[in-house]
Amino acid sequence: MSNPGGRPTTGGNGSARPPTLENFAPQNKRGRPRSTGSHLCDRCQQHVAKIPVRWPDGAACGACFAQATHTYGTCPDCREQRMLPGRAPSTNEPICRDCAGIATDLTCTRCEREAERFRAGLCVRCALADDLTAVLKPGDDLRLHRLMGLLTETGRPESIYTYMRPGTKARDLLEAIGNRTLALTHEAFDALPRSTAAEHLRALLVHHRMMAARGNENLARFEQWIAARIDALPDDGTSRIIERFATWHHLKRVRARATDPETNLETVTHAAKQDITEAGKFLIWLRQHHNAGADHLRQSHVDDYLSSGPSTRKTVRNFVRWLNEQQSGRTSELDARGPRRRTHVRLHHAEEARADQGTGIGWPTGRPSTLSRPPNRRNPLGIYFSRPSVELDYESGCARCRRNGSNFMDSSRLHPRRTTCP
Ligand SMILES: [Zn+2]
Ligand SMILES: [Zn+2]
Ligand SMILES: [Zn+2]
Repeated sequence: MSNPGGRPTTGGNGSARPPTLENFAPQNKRGRPRSTGSHLCDRCQQHVAKIPVRWPDGAACGACFAQATHTYGTCPDCREQRMLPGRAPSTNEPICRDCAGIATDLTCTRCEREAERFRAGLCVRCALADDLTAVLKPGDDLRLHRLMGLLTETGRPESIYTYMRPGTKARDLLEAIGNRTLALTHEAFDALPRSTAAEHLRALLVHHRMMAARGNENLARFEQWIAARIDALPDDGTSRIIERFATWHHLKRVRARATDPETNLETVTHAAKQDITEAGKFLIWLRQHHNAGADHLRQSHVDDYLSSGPSTRKTVRNFVRWLNEQQSGRTSELDARGPRRRTHVRLHHAEEARADQGTGIGWPTGRPSTLSRPPNRRNPLGIYFSRPSVELDYESGCARCRRNGSNFMDSSRLHPRRTTCP
């Protein structure tokens, strides 16, 4: 496949990362701190508990042995291309077994490749092939043979060995494929509980053409999600309007963003799902509490909804904005910035508030507007108003006050002039 931008191909998994086998599994922990002991490794000069091999150049610990048996190249002494586990006495350069005089058997008894013997005389690839045959039971299924080949011929077979060890999610998936309970189809993978292991395997199968590509995976899943969500909504007009909102507002935008490989579509669709879910909940609430549909939505409904439930309800503002755009014939725009908070003014402000009632100047968010308390009610600071106490109608104009979430403004939170509010 040509790749003019030099960007990794996505293999249809919606991520800029290609579904490589290298990031399939945590890498073999060969670099883990070695347990200390009384034996000195001549290669790394560390004291270790065990010395697996003593070669002509000295003792090698487990980590140095693993590193040595994974070093391949051209031997500087004999010019042969092969494993270079030894060390040249003069230069300390990696050299081949024959030139180094290493007698350790490092040939697989089955494939005869020069490699560390991983299990019962077999190299890791042959051991892995045995395990995969047992798990995948490929029979005459060519796709499964290709999958086996792919997994065994990877640059890091030890990672695949770790990846598919019993008890992992990947092992369960491979076993399901082997038992023919998981077909290599998108429908079958869609029916699985969402997991990184399943999505990675799907991406790998798509990337290597063992499963058909169906465009962007995240996008495909989002479309499915919308369909299921709409199905679950009541048929009283709710599902129709949410379908329009989901399709025309969100899906259109998500499709456009899906064309940009830099976009994290997972995040984009997650936010869209939240919007759609909250919009649906809102309309259900509207029907239950006010027996109204979206066409009869009033500002008081929005305020009531936002002030009476959990803070996730504020997500509904995108839907309300969209409704405003749709219902251009509306006499006044709905505002979903949040309920107007009635803010009781503390006394030292109340004095000012009274003075300012006529002008409205000096307050950030509007005029003292509501005279709702009974006259002469004792206020929190113990001073009587001679007239009904004053409440400020806080119109969420002041970002600072809103951020403080204050229902009870004090002077430190109030700005001296309305004009200071954004
Ligand atoms: Zn060592
Ligand atoms: Zn050599
Ligand atoms: Zn082998």
